[in-house]
Amino acid sequence: MVFTLIFLSASYITTSRGTTLLYINEYTFCKNGNSRASGIRYTCSCRLSKECNAYAYVNKDEIIYKSYLEHNHPPTKYLKVSSGYYVACKFVFAASYITLTRGTKLLMINNFSYSLSGPIRDGGARYTCSSYLSRRCKAFAHVSKDDVILKFSTEHNHPPTKYMKTSSGLYIKVGN
Ligand SMILES: [Zn+2]
Ligand SMILES: [Zn+2]
Repeated sequence: MVFTLIFLSASYITTSRGTTLLYINEYTFCKNGNSRASGIRYTCSCRLSKECNAYAYVNKDEIIYKSYLEHNHPPTKYLKVSSGYYVACKFVFAASYITLTRGTKLLMINNFSYSLSGPIRDGGARYTCSSYLSRRCKAFAHVSKDDVILKFSTEHNHPPTKYMKTSSGLYIKVGN
């Protein structure tokens, strides 16, 4: 398979009480303080009631750049807001797999490429930034066997690597 989409849907919602929540894959997250200069930390709405450790960091460009999305509970059916309280999706988040002409499969998240580095529990896989060795970049992603991104960091210390699609549907790296 050349191309598979990985879904991560995220938006902001405003509850009838006026609270803004971050809504990711049917789970709600509350703003949890301004974390440093880099972004805002959101933690799962069930952090206190269920001791859930899921979180997401959103930067000033409204991009989720770091998250842990494995919840220890089903989605909060909290969300019965009327359409008037919905806020348009602001997140620029694109993920897919590409295959290079030499057969290597890469995970692309927001224009950065990640290489398979090993298995994680339950049949999933861990990917590390393709510049992990050359630039010691620590960005990574954990993907479940159903191709859902469970955990990732897109904090890179370098610009994205560019890939070009060839007529065969496979990709080649362009530039440096
Ligand atoms: Zn949770
Ligand atoms: Zn990187």
